[in-house]
Amino acid sequence: MDLSKPTVRSYYMEFLRCAACSQNFEYENPLYHPITLPKCGHTMCKQCINIMGGQKECPQDQVSFGNTPIDQLPTNYPFLMMIYRSSEGQCRSYMEFDDQKKSYFSDIEKGFGEISLVIMQIINNKKYQSILSRSTIRTMFSLLHSQYINNEGFLIFIQAARNLGENVCIDFILHYQSLQELKNNLESALGLQQGQFPEPAIEEKILKLIILLIKCSGISSEQHLMYSVTQLVQRKDQKNIQPSVEYIVRLLLDVPCFEIEQVGESSSMQLKPAFQKYESLRRVYDSKIIEMAMQCGFYMPPEQWSLLLYGYTTNESIIDPIIDKLLTKTSFQTAIQQYKKIVLLSGAAQSQDLNDLMKHFQFLSNDNLAIDASGASVLTSTLDMLKRVVSILNKLKK
Ligand SMILES: [Zn+2]
Ligand SMILES: [Zn+2]
Repeated sequence: MDLSKPTVRSYYMEFLRCAACSQNFEYENPLYHPITLPKCGHTMCKQCINIMGGQKECPQDQVSFGNTPIDQLPTNYPFLMMIYRSSEGQCRSYMEFDDQKKSYFSDIEKGFGEISLVIMQIINNKKYQSILSRSTIRTMFSLLHSQYINNEGFLIFIQAARNLGENVCIDFILHYQSLQELKNNLESALGLQQGQFPEPAIEEKILKLIILLIKCSGISSEQHLMYSVTQLVQRKDQKNIQPSVEYIVRLLLDVPCFEIEQVGESSSMQLKPAFQKYESLRRVYDSKIIEMAMQCGFYMPPEQWSLLLYGYTTNESIIDPIIDKLLTKTSFQTAIQQYKKIVLLSGAAQSQDLNDLMKHFQFLSNDNLAIDASGASVLTSTLDMLKRVVSILNKLKK
C-alpha cells in the first residue's frame, strides 16, 4: 500500500494505530501486531495487550470483554494485510486452535483479507473518496475491527456489515440527487413554508433566548415562551419571525427538552438539566432536525448540514456523529426506498451494477440477519458489494 501520499494517508492512519499507545502496527515486530478486543472492537498492539495483563475491561471505553483470556486473542490478520502486502507466518494463538477452528478461522481470514484488499483500493483513490463519505470509510474499518471468531465478534461483524451497506446506499443517493431540489423539499418535510427554515444566526439567537428567558424571567407555558421569544427577536428583525420561533419551540417540545414545575396554583416551564447549556441544547436541536429529515428520506452530506445549520461547512465534525447514531434498521429501509427512487429511476448509466448493489442492500437490511443468514453469506455479500462499488466508481466520470 502506498503510504507516501500525505492527503490520502491522513484519512485513515488513525485506524491503523494502536488505540492505546498510538504506535503504528508493524508486521515485522510481533510486539506491534494488532489484537482486537472481542466486545468493543478496539484494536491494540500486542505490547499494550501484554501490559493489560489480567484486566477485564477495555482501557479505551471500559467495556468488559468477559472471560476471554486476553493473552489468547489471535492477531488480527486482515489488519496486518492492510499494512503489508505479503502476509506469511502464523501467530502462536492460531497454532493452538483445533483443526475445526483453524479451518473456520482461515475461511474468515481469507474473506476479510479479500475485503481488505478492496478497501485498500478505495482508500488509495482520491476520486472514490469524493463520493464515499468519511463515515463509510470508518465503517469499512470497523468491519475489519470485528475479530470474528466467536459469537460476539459475529454480531459485531453483522452490525458493521449492515452499517456499511446503509452508508454506501446513502452515498449513492447523495451522489445522484439534486441538492437544490432537496433543500426545497426539506422545508415541506419539516412542516415549514418555502423560505421559513430559519437562518443560522436566527436559529442561534432563538435557542439562546429560550435558555435565557426560562432561566431569568419565569415562563409559564409554551405559548408564553413563543410569545416572549418572538417579541425579543422581532424588535430588531423586521421579518416575520413567528413561524421560525414556533417551529423551534415545537421541535424542542417534541424531544422533549422541557419539564413543567407546578408550584401551588401556578406552573413554570423549565429546561431539563441536560439541556440547560447552549451547546447541549444545540446538539439535541441539530440531531432532531436531521432525524426528522432522515425519517422522510432526506439525506445530505455532513458539510451540507453544517452549511444549512451553521452557515459554514466546517462543523461537519459535529454533524458526523449525529448521522452515525441515526443509522438504524428502519432508516436503512427508508434509504433503500430513496435509492430506488433517486438512483435506479434516474436513468443512470451502469444500471446493472446499481441494481445488483440494491440486492445487497436488501439482503443486509434484513432485521434478522444474524439468525437468517450465515456468516459466510454475509461475508460474500459484503465483499461483492464492495467490488461492485469499486466498479461503479471506476466508471463514473468525475
Ligand atoms: Zn474498547
Ligand atoms: Zn499499543
